[in-house]
Amino acid sequence: MEKTEFTVDELRSQLERMSGTYDLARVVDPIECRIIELHDDGSISMNNKCYGIWNADQKCVNCSSSMACRTGCRQEKTEQFENSIFDIQSDPVTLKTPDGEAFPAVMELVSIRKKGSPGPSANDREAENRDHSAAEFMAAHDHLTKVLSAGPFYEKARELLDESTGGTWVMISADIMNFRLVNTLFGVMKGNEVLVTTATILDGAAESAGGICGRLGGDQFAMLVPESAYSVSALEDAAKELSGFFSSGIFTFCVHFGVYVIEDPSVPVSVMYGRANSALRTIRDDITRVAACYDDEMLRRTIQEQKIISGFDEALGSGRLLMYLQPLAEEDGSIFGAEALARWRRTDGSTVMPGEFIETLENAGLIDQLDRHMWELAVKQLKEWQGSCMEDMTISVNMSARDFYSLDVYDVMTELVERYDVDSRKLRLEITETALLEEPEKSSMIISKLRARGFIVEIDDFGKGHSSLSLLKDIQADVLKIDMSLLSEIESDPRSRIILGSVINMAGLLGMDVIAEGVETAQQLESLKEMGCRHFQGFWFSPPVPVSEFEKKYKKSL
Ligand code: C2E
Ligand code: MG
Ligand code: MG
Repeated sequence: MEKTEFTVDELRSQLERMSGTYDLARVVDPIECRIIELHDDGSISMNNKCYGIWNADQKCVNCSSSMACRTGCRQEKTEQFENSIFDIQSDPVTLKTPDGEAFPAVMELVSIRKKGSPGPSANDREAENRDHSAAEFMAAHDHLTKVLSAGPFYEKARELLDESTGGTWVMISADIMNFRLVNTLFGVMKGNEVLVTTATILDGAAESAGGICGRLGGDQFAMLVPESAYSVSALEDAAKELSGFFSSGIFTFCVHFGVYVIEDPSVPVSVMYGRANSALRTIRDDITRVAACYDDEMLRRTIQEQKIISGFDEALGSGRLLMYLQPLAEEDGSIFGAEALARWRRTDGSTVMPGEFIETLENAGLIDQLDRHMWELAVKQLKEWQGSCMEDMTISVNMSARDFYSLDVYDVMTELVERYDVDSRKLRLEITETALLEEPEKSSMIISKLRARGFIVEIDDFGKGHSSLSLLKDIQADVLKIDMSLLSEIESDPRSRIILGSVINMAGLLGMDVIAEGVETAQQLESLKEMGCRHFQGFWFSPPVPVSEFEKKYKKSL
C-alpha cells in the first residue's frame, strides 16, 4: 500500500477492494483495541474489540497492529484460535474525518485457514494477479525499506554460509537508539524516512562487502558480511553518515551495531543474530560507542538468560517467586506502606535479585506472568491484613512497560481487587518513567482510567531518564518517586541540590506526593527534609524483607 493517509470514504473503498482478496479486511484502533466502523456519511464509530475473532477475551500478545502503529511499518503475524489460523497483515494508516481530525489507525488484512492447511490463502490469490518477478521481490523484501525482510534474510544468510568455500563471516545487528522517540517527536512520516535511509546505507555497505542486509522488524536491521571485508571503521562511517542526516537540536541520532564473528556456521542464523544482538545490548544506551563484539562473557550471559527462561515456569508454579516488602516511611520512621519487590528463591536456598531476571523476562515476553503473580500476592496480602493492625498499610507494585502491550492492565487490576474484595486505594501502581515515555498517550489514557477507579498511580524512577519534565506535563499521577540517582550528588554538588529541591517543590505544586527512593544516610534524610520531602524509602529505614519480617518491623514501629 503506497498511500497512507485516507478519508473515511477512501478507506471504505480500499477495504471493499481488499475484501475480494482477503477473508477479512477491516480498520482497527490498536490503542483501544477496537474495530473502527466507517459510515456512509464519513463519520466513524468504535464498538467491538478487535481481538474477538481469534481470541475470545484477551488482548493479543505482541499485537502486530500496535507494532505497526508504533513503527509506522507493515507488520505480519499469525494467530491461532481453536481450529483456525489467522494470517494478519497490519498496515499503518492515518484516518481523516470530515471535521479535519487525523488519527492513527491500522488496516488489517486477514486470511483465515484451517489448522494443517498450507500457506496464507489470500496471499496466494493476490499473487495470481501479479507479475511473477515483482511478486517474488515483494515477498522477499520489506515493503517500506526494500531490503530483505526477516524470513528471507535468514534463508539467504543460510545459503551464503552453506555455499561459502572458506573464510569466516560476520553477523552484524543494527538498532537505532530511541527510535520510538523519532515517531513521537517528529511523526510517523519522519520515522519512515529514517528507516528507509538507514536501510539504504546499510544495504549499500553490505552489498559492497559481498554480503546481505535485512530488516528484521521495527528499527532492527541485520547484515551478514565476509570477515575479510568487515571493519569497525566502516561501521563508524555508516553511523556518522546517518547521524549527519538526522541529528537536530532536540534529537541526537545514534545507531548501534552488535557484531558476532561466526565461529560455527552450522548454528541457526537466528541464534547468530541473537548473539550479535546480545553484544549490541551492552552499548544500547551509550552514545559514545558505535559497535560491540560478542565475547565469552556474553556467551556466559546468554547461557544464564536461557537458564532463567527455562526455569521460570517451574519457579512460578512451585512458589519460588517471592514478594519482599520494603517499608515506605514518614520522617519520624513510622511505616505507612511498602513496595513489593520480586525475589527468586533457587532450590539451593540462594536468592536471585530482580536485576538478574527482570530484563530477561521482559525480552522473552514473560514479564506479564511475573507481574500478575506479584500483583496477586500483594492483593492477597492486603486481604490478609484486613481487620488487623496492618489494615491501613498500602502496597505498591511494579509494572513493566511490556505489561501495557500484553495485558489489559485496567481489567486485570480491577478483577483482582474485586475478587479479593480489597480497597483499590490500598494497591498502588508503580509505572516507570521509561515505560510512560514509550507511549505517553496510551499510558496517559490507561492511568486516567485506573485513577478514576480509585488506584493510586506512582511514577517510578523519576529523574533516571532524559525527558522527565515533559512527562510531568502529559501524565497526571498521584505520586512521584524520585530515583536514587538524583540523590547521590546532593551532598557534594550544589547544582544537584537545587535541581532536586525544585523537583520536590514542583511536584507539590502539581498536587503530587513525593517519595524519595534510595535514602541511605542520615545526612541525605536531613537534606531531603529541608527540601520539603516527607516520604522516604531506602536502606536507612530498611532493605526489602520477607513479609513476616516486615510485619514485625511495623509492629515494633507502632
Ligand atoms: P524499583 O522499583 O525502583 O525498586 C527499588 C529498588 O531500589 C529495589 O531494588 C530496592 O531494593 C532498591 N533500593 C531501595 N532502597 C535502596 C537504597 O537505599 N540503596 C540502594 N542502593 N538501593 C535501594 P530491587 O529489589 O533489586 O529491584 C530493582 C528493580 O527491579 C526495581 O526498581 C523494579 O524496577 C524492578 N522490579 C522488582 N520487582 C519487580 C516486579 O515484580 N515486577 C517488575 N516489572 N519489576 C520489578
Ligand atoms: Mg518500583
Ligand atoms: Mg524506583
